[in-house]
Amino acid sequence: MLEDLKKLVCQANLDLVQQGLVFKTWGNVSGVDRPAGAMVIKPSGVPYSEMKPRHMVVVSLSTGIVTEGDLRPSSDTPTHLELYRAFQAIGGVVHTHSPYATAWAQAIRSIPPFGTTHADHFRGPVPVTRVMTDEEIAADYEINTGKIIVEAMTGLDPRELPGVLVADHGPFAWGPTSELAVESAAVLEQIAYLASLTRQVEPYPGFISRELLDKHFLRKHGPGSYYGQRS
Ligand SMILES: [Zn+2]
Repeated sequence: MLEDLKKLVCQANLDLVQQGLVFKTWGNVSGVDRPAGAMVIKPSGVPYSEMKPRHMVVVSLSTGIVTEGDLRPSSDTPTHLELYRAFQAIGGVVHTHSPYATAWAQAIRSIPPFGTTHADHFRGPVPVTRVMTDEEIAADYEINTGKIIVEAMTGLDPRELPGVLVADHGPFAWGPTSELAVESAAVLEQIAYLASLTRQVEPYPGFISRELLDKHFLRKHGPGSYYGQRS
């Protein structure tokens, strides 16, 4: 079952390494099959060099119970499930500790839109979550991590902001597929890197104008987009 999705999710996890977003095993990608009511995710603690599609773990989207696979799923599985349940438009989720995005998360700073590189992919600041309470950390930590991400996205469109920084932790990113979720995670890291450099050059840079932000986002995304080749 879900053999194609297992291949895609396995490849997306390997792409995460290839794109330099993962140190050791600190990252995970999942993908969802909504008609099947199932999520496919990386197993916990398996070295990337040995990872094969047959190692991927299938989890019920509604119950979180493992329905297929011999290995334990990633420890962040409950966070991924919370995101799929809250954001119906997404088909893939990525978590990394990529250095620049993690630095902004640790500083508990939302990443402002300083330029068009940001605006091409995020239609506004990259949100940062609030800090978790002691109670939220003590019980159901991974579920609550998902809940504070959803909370940080209140009133925002996950198709326009494909990632969030979890305070004191790191980035979660998403997209229509697991492959595109990896792309979002890579873009988020680059945006965080550029924002860090911008702050070094000018400690108090101004934000990009709303007009330029919307221009760059909308020419790449949505019904009026015209960037790239017609598919
Ligand atoms: Zn983490």
